Formats: sequence, C-alpha cells, structure tokens
Amino acid sequence: MRRSTLLVLLSGLLLPAGTAAAAPVTTPPPAVRDFGNGPERNEEAALIGETASLRSADAAAAPYHHDRTRGYPRKNQIPAPPENPADASIKLGLIPHHAIAAKLNALQALGDRVSAEVIGRSAGGRDLYFVTVTAPESAWEVREQERLRQQIEAGRKIPKNRYKVPIYVNGNIHGNEWEGTDAALKVIEELATSPQAAELLKRTRLYFNITANPDGRVLGQRQNGNGFDLNRDMITASQPEARAMRQIMIDRQPVAMLDLHGYVNGTLIEPTTPPHGANYEYDLFITNTYANGLGMEAAVNALGYTPDKDGVHPVQIPFRDSEEGWDDWPPIFTPQYAPFHGAVAAHTVEIPLRVNGSDYTNLPVEELRRRSRINTEVGAAAVRATYAHVLANRDKMIADQIEVFRRGAAGEPSKQVPLGIVPGFGPEDVYTTTYPRAYLIPPGSPAAARLVDHLIANDVRVERATRPFRGHPAGTYVVDMRQPKRGLANVMLEAGADISPRVDAMYDISGWSLGLLWGAGVSAVQDLRVPTEPVRAAAPTGTVPAGRGALALKVTDGRDARALNDLLARGVEVTWADGTAIVPPTAREAAREVAARYGARFARAATATGTRLAPVRIAAAAAADELYSLREMGFTVTPVSTALANAGFDWNTADVLYVSSGLSYTALNPAAKAALDAFLARGGVVTRGATGATFNTAAALLTVTPVAGRGDANGVVRMSSGEHGFVYSPRWFTGLGAEVKAEERYDAFVSGHWRPNPDGTGGPDAAKGQAAVVSGRDERGTRVVLFGTEPLFRNHPKGLFAQVARALYSTAR
Ligand SMILES: [Zn+2]
Repeated sequence: MRRSTLLVLLSGLLLPAGTAAAAPVTTPPPAVRDFGNGPERNEEAALIGETASLRSADAAAAPYHHDRTRGYPRKNQIPAPPENPADASIKLGLIPHHAIAAKLNALQALGDRVSAEVIGRSAGGRDLYFVTVTAPESAWEVREQERLRQQIEAGRKIPKNRYKVPIYVNGNIHGNEWEGTDAALKVIEELATSPQAAELLKRTRLYFNITANPDGRVLGQRQNGNGFDLNRDMITASQPEARAMRQIMIDRQPVAMLDLHGYVNGTLIEPTTPPHGANYEYDLFITNTYANGLGMEAAVNALGYTPDKDGVHPVQIPFRDSEEGWDDWPPIFTPQYAPFHGAVAAHTVEIPLRVNGSDYTNLPVEELRRRSRINTEVGAAAVRATYAHVLANRDKMIADQIEVFRRGAAGEPSKQVPLGIVPGFGPEDVYTTTYPRAYLIPPGSPAAARLVDHLIANDVRVERATRPFRGHPAGTYVVDMRQPKRGLANVMLEAGADISPRVDAMYDISGWSLGLLWGAGVSAVQDLRVPTEPVRAAAPTGTVPAGRGALALKVTDGRDARALNDLLARGVEVTWADGTAIVPPTAREAAREVAARYGARFARAATATGTRLAPVRIAAAAAADELYSLREMGFTVTPVSTALANAGFDWNTADVLYVSSGLSYTALNPAAKAALDAFLARGGVVTRGATGATFNTAAALLTVTPVAGRGDANGVVRMSSGEHGFVYSPRWFTGLGAEVKAEERYDAFVSGHWRPNPDGTGGPDAAKGQAAVVSGRDERGTRVVLFGTEPLFRNHPKGLFAQVARALYSTAR
C-alpha cells in the first residue's frame, strides 16, 4: 500500500491476528492521514541495504527499449532462475519468482496472443518480466502502430480505428503486496485463449509488468534489494526497477494504467483527494480516471464478497469518500508519473485483505491463502474492468491523450478545471501552475550534465543555444516549455508551491524541485529568442588545465566527491582545506582520468595546503537511502547499529561515524561504550536528524539544544547563504556553545508542506534564522557536523550530497 507502516500497525492493532475474518469491523477504515515516511522510516530501512548488491546509477546498463521492428507474438524463451524454496510468496500459495519464467513460457505456448520479454534486472539481479497481450501483428503493423503513437505524442489527430490502445498494468511494486502479480497472470491466461477476448485484442495492446519488484517479492519486503521504496522513486529513478517502469511508460504510452497494491479494506481505488498535482491536464485526467474508477468499483463489488461472509468491505474511492490525506501531489508514485506520458486514467488500487507484516507471521496458512485468493480475484476484476472501459471509450481516451500532448506542444496556459466537471469536483480540487517560456541550465558543471541527461531519459526535449544570448553563453541548455511533455519538465524544474495553507494532511513528500535541489543553477525565462539545436546527451564537463603544477578540486557536487574518492583509492597524496582538495603534480594523469569519468573540473593550484587526506572509511548507522548515496559517492561504508556495536564492532575499520538511524549511545553496553569512546577520541562524527541529535547529546559532543519541527513537515527550504536545502521532519539547533559554528541557517520555506504544531511551535516561522547545520570540535578534539536537514533523502536532492561529503572529509582525521 502507499501508506506507511504506521497505518499497517494501527490496523494490526484494530484487528488482532487471526480474528479479522471472523470479526469484521463495520466501518471501513477511512483514508486517514499518517506521517508518510517520517521520522520512523530510517529505523525500518536501516536493516536492509547492507546485504544489497550496490549498483550505482553510473554503472547501470543502458535502458531496455521497445523493439519496434518485430511482429507479435514474439515467442521469447524466458530463462528460469534457480528454484528458491525460501521465496516468501510460497507461504501464501502465490507464484514464487523462480516459477514465473516457466509460467510465461507456457502462456506463450497457448496460442498467438502472449509475448513475454525480460526488460531489465532488479537491484538484486533478478529478471524483470514484461508481457504484451494482443492479436497477432506483422512487423509492418508494429511499425505502423509506432508511427501512430508518435503522431499522438506530437499532439496530432490519427485516423479512427487504426490504433491499438495501450493499457499498462503494474504488479507488486511493493514486494510484500504480492497478488498484483498473480492477478496479472490470471488475466493473461484468460486472454490467451478466450474467444470473447478476440475483439479486445484486435483493438488494444495490454501490457503487464508482472512483478515490478522481484527482490521484495522473494524477500517479503516492501523495498527492493537496495532498500528503496520504488513507488517513491519515479522522478528520481535511482533504481533499475523504476527506470524500467519509466521506459515502459515512455515507449508504450498507455492511455490507462493500474498499479496493484495492498492492503486497504475495502478495496481502495483512485482518483485521489486534494491536493492535485498542478502540472496535469486535470480536466482530462479526472473525467477518465473517475469513470474508470467507478467501473472498477462496480466490478469489484460485483464479486459478491461481504463483510460478514468474507471480511471484505465495499470499495472506497478517496476522491469521493475522503476529505484529504490520499493525494496526487508528488509525481513520485507510478500513477502520478504516468499522466505525464499520456495516461488519462491512472490508478493506485489497494486490494483488501492484509497478508503482510505481522499477519504473514501470525495467521494460519489457510487463512493467509484464503485472503490471497480473494485479493487475486479483486485485482483481476480491476484489470478486467479497466480493459472493458478502455475498449468502450477508446476514441475519447485517445483523443484526450492527444489533447494532453497538443496543449503541451502549443504551450497553452495551465487550465482551470471547471467546478463540477465530475460530481464533487469543488474549489478545493482546483490547482494550477504557471509555465515559463523556457528553463535555462548553465552548461559545464557535472550537476548540469546530470540534470540534462536525466531530463532526456524522461523523454523531455532539451536543446542547446548555438550562440550567446542575453548574457548566457553559447551551449546553454534550453528546456522549451512548448513541448508535448512540458508537464513533466515543469513538475521537475519549477520551484513548486507551499501548499501548507490549503491542506492539513499530506500522504508523502510535498516538495522535490530538481531545479532547486539538483545543483544545476536552473533559471526560468519568459522570452526565448535564440537559435538552438537538439541535445541527445549532455556534453562532457571534466577538465584539467594544461601545465605541470598542482591541481585543485573544489567539492561542490557528489560527482566531485566520487572523483576525489577515486584518487584517494589510487593512493594519490591529497590534502584538504576549506572544501577543496589539492592534488600533487605527479597525479595529473590520474586527475585526467577521473575528470573524464565523473565530469570533475580541476583548476590550477598553489602548492599543497591543508591536512593530508586518506581514503575516508565510514561507519554508518543510517537508512538504506543514505548508505546507497554514500557508496554512490565512492565512500567505503560499513553499517553499524546498537546491536552491532554491542556485539563488538571493530571501530578500527572507521575514520568517521555517520549517525542518523539505529544507534543509541545510551543503549550500549559498557564494553561497547568504551570502544566507541575510544573511537571518538580519534575519529570524526557526522549526524543527521533526531537520532543523530540524540546521539550528539548522549555522547557529549557539541554543546547545542536540538529543536524538532513538526514531524511531517517536508519540502524545499532556502538557507541564509542563498542555497537551497531539503527537509523532512526538520531540526535546528539553539544554545550553541562557544565551540560551535552555524554552517547554515534556515531562511524561508519555498515549497512543500510545513505547518506549525497546534501549539504554534515547530513551524517555518520558528525555524527562521535558526542554525540548520552546525560544526565544531568537542572537548576531546573530535570534529563533529550535525545536520538538521536531509541532504541524502531517497538519493534525490543530488545538489546537496556534496555537503555531506565535505563534512566527512573535514571530520575525518
Ligand atoms: Zn503498496
């Protein structure tokens, strides 16, 4: 389900294990607020990650692309992985990951309708399976379909009855919400042979991402093998599974998509409550999404399950049935990302009966399997209802998809949706934005190159100015807002909005601006008169000046840290002072190599100054996303926790301790405390968040008083330096001792959701002017940096990673 573990825990409390079916609650739980992935997320996530095979974005293979030259069916033989008796699906009577390949091969053999492919690998190295169900097509017909798709994407009308409408079903994105996979396979099996499906398959292509998260499916966990929630990763795309889903949406351009989750009883079917994302063509989106939602509701309710007999409650639709708390504001979820690639009906569907968490452990196997059978039926009914709806409304849905792209290409202003466009659509549902004429990205930095490549990977068109204009150099990147996917470009690059005044409850993050958080210095312009050429990939940025002298590398980006860590790993004798590494003349060849590899920009330097820097080894009590980001920057990271410390952690493996999660100084046994104290006498400390601040106090490091902002507050903040930061459960520090320096102070809240607590404390006004990041040297000489911000959050705010890297280099000794 989309909601965090808090609600799962609550429903676990409401429905004691083993009694849920026998004693159904009479009122279905409303889609109430919870605290998303708030302060608790790290405690949970810290347990993963360390066993995951780390693949950095840099090392990721090129994305799989749709083969537009072969006909259907394709009859690919899908290779099966070794059998894994520990696959968590088995207990539920559901298909284990290792059995999917054979199942797909059997489905392909049933006739001429089913084609299966492997479209990538998970973080843990498992195959991602993609199925197309359609009537046979010649290679010529496949090319013709692609030609029509491109015409639609250009916002141009197409001849009637020629285009096979694409529908996309995503299964099991949360690994421990299994049945989407089984529902997909059930429907595919029906479609493979049913005579009634012939008409449908002549007019549509049905696409199934069988399990979007095979690692989680096998392990029985929400996240993938790297510890990431894939349904928070869509605009960051840090994970290979998210990149595979992104490519499906770009290449197949579905008019409708379903993401099958669990568990909300009664079945939850979107559309959502406010706030609504301001960059959608929401008039087109809400009409189609609500209509298909009602169709799914009818189909699910028609299955005949009852609260008394089955423990299954009637369907709930948040848009209709709840005030707020289940919104479509951030484009981090698949159904909130798909509309930017043309989906005019997109839904999270939460099947009803919980089988994960404590229920998985505690319920009898027979009860679990009963629930999973019902969940599979509910998921299949939602899929069938969707393809029936699309078949019946295909002309309108194609026309609406064309209209989405046409408005973008024409650069039309954000449309105010008429009240009552669907029943219940009121002023509280109206959200609009203002599109600039274009965004400009100054060329030459690794941050600019990363952002440009990211936009292109998202199918956003980027151009390059071929001459200087209005003070911008030739080569300046231009993102013209007259393009079919301007909604996606704008939702990524705009500052975002502070929606705190309009809603009290948000489901997850509310601010994410890549324009402000990815370090590329993006600006918006209202006038664009400059000749440009298209860009297929960002230009390389790495430079090393000619000459024979020493070199300076200012660490202003995570990629600079990566380059520096590479040099350190080669044994280069680097010194460090004030955020800059000095590389000796003897290492010029190595500098040229890392400049080319990571885009780092070296400058001429005077002779070496500062302290000698050795490779920085980090002991990290941190969440999975932070471990991932630290390793991505090339740091050597060894996870540590209270339990590992108490078990005799070897502190000789570490130069710096990073604490944000899972390490409590007061919970250490005397031997562990002594070992950690010995480390603190020689090593540095960097902390973040509540756990970090508590550690600072308990270990008597810096003299500060940590103050907590409201727990669910999150978004983009402007700092007193003029830089931007990201916060989630923000913290600040007062009562700074003489040894403590404020590195950054909060200035203003820019975008997201941050209200004060009911008693008036903890809001952005209280934070203004307060120290957000502090540094100092404690009595024993230990260098310490404390973050009240979230610079590594979900591998997203990439322009902030260097803050952590600099803190680590500065505290290591
Ligand atoms: Zn889910």
